[in-house]
Amino acid sequence: MHEIAFQINNVLMTTCVTKKKVYQTMDVAEDALIESWIKFDYAPHHGPIAIYRCDDCGYYHFTSKGTMNEKLAKFQAEGKIKFQKQANAWHDKIKKRK
Ligand SMILES: [Zn+2]
Repeated sequence: MHEIAFQINNVLMTTCVTKKKVYQTMDVAEDALIESWIKFDYAPHHGPIAIYRCDDCGYYHFTSKGTMNEKLAKFQAEGKIKFQKQANAWHDKIKKRK
């Protein structure tokens, strides 16, 4: 019985004890971070702002603490997130009309 439990744990290699979503590389995590800002409406001072390398799994997770990710900060400063949000909302409207 105990051996089966160990096998199940080995299969779940890309999960983490923190229960956070695992990103294999910094680049993938950065893109996903920006995408999530486009997709979701985070309240001011809420939502993930940075990426860190996890000591437990060795991969990358989002965090709402610390300094804002440079790429995300740049996107926000240039108004690209707002622009993408509006573009997505517009696409949704068209989809619903059909
Ligand atoms: Zn982890």
